Amino acid sequence: MTDRPALCLTFDDNFVDSWHDTLDLFDKYDARATFFLCWPERISAPQLRKLQEIEARGHEIGFHTREHVRLPKYLLSHTLEDYLDDQIDRGLDAMADLGFHPKSFSFPYFRFRPKLIAPLLERFEILRLEGPYDQFHDSLSARYGSRTVNTYCFTDKTGMGLSNSYFADRFEWLQQEGGAAVTCGHFIGTEGNKFPKMRCSPDDLEGILALARAYNFDFVTMSELSQSRPATVVRPAEQPAPMAAWEAA
Ligand SMILES: [Zn+2]
Repeated sequence: MTDRPALCLTFDDNFVDSWHDTLDLFDKYDARATFFLCWPERISAPQLRKLQEIEARGHEIGFHTREHVRLPKYLLSHTLEDYLDDQIDRGLDAMADLGFHPKSFSFPYFRFRPKLIAPLLERFEILRLEGPYDQFHDSLSARYGSRTVNTYCFTDKTGMGLSNSYFADRFEWLQQEGGAAVTCGHFIGTEGNKFPKMRCSPDDLEGILALARAYNFDFVTMSELSQSRPATVVRPAEQPAPMAAWEAA
């Protein structure tokens, strides 16, 4: 038996209210997503309650740095050690203060440095590195056992004006190749985001979810991609053992 292809929906930054508003839509399609949170020190008490409900309803809260710094610019005046201390460990302390212990991490702006991978894998089970690329064919991930993945496609359909064929082409390739595809989105809604490109309307998101269901894709969270394949259950043979059959004759 082969594994069904899987879609790993991720949403970045701190659009907590809009994510929470979308929980019923995710439920309608049995879709579970990973929400990569940054700026944990800015989370209000009402937003904390919403994050807790998001997690309680089966989604994953990942981490996206403390202050969403742009790595190439940050490294002009800081070291990689600074990044780990100030953007990762201090941020994880703030996440722990909120009651979250993220197992997954994504780099802001899809910018990373290879030297950060090993220290981050000591802190997280799985990292989202870069992408999405126009040439998407090499960006699928393994369904099990991945520690680093690249982004396969955006879900900011409304803000980026992505066509239906953008998704049809990519979902068709996932169907054909198998494995898992990691998507990236941000704000879910029609208004209230000052970054107009980083946006997907609920109607457009529903179209994407419906297409995924039409393909019969599984929905998985980031940390599920890092888990090993469950052991196959071996059913006992239906026929009696030869000796038993002999004795019965
Ligand atoms: Zn971001």
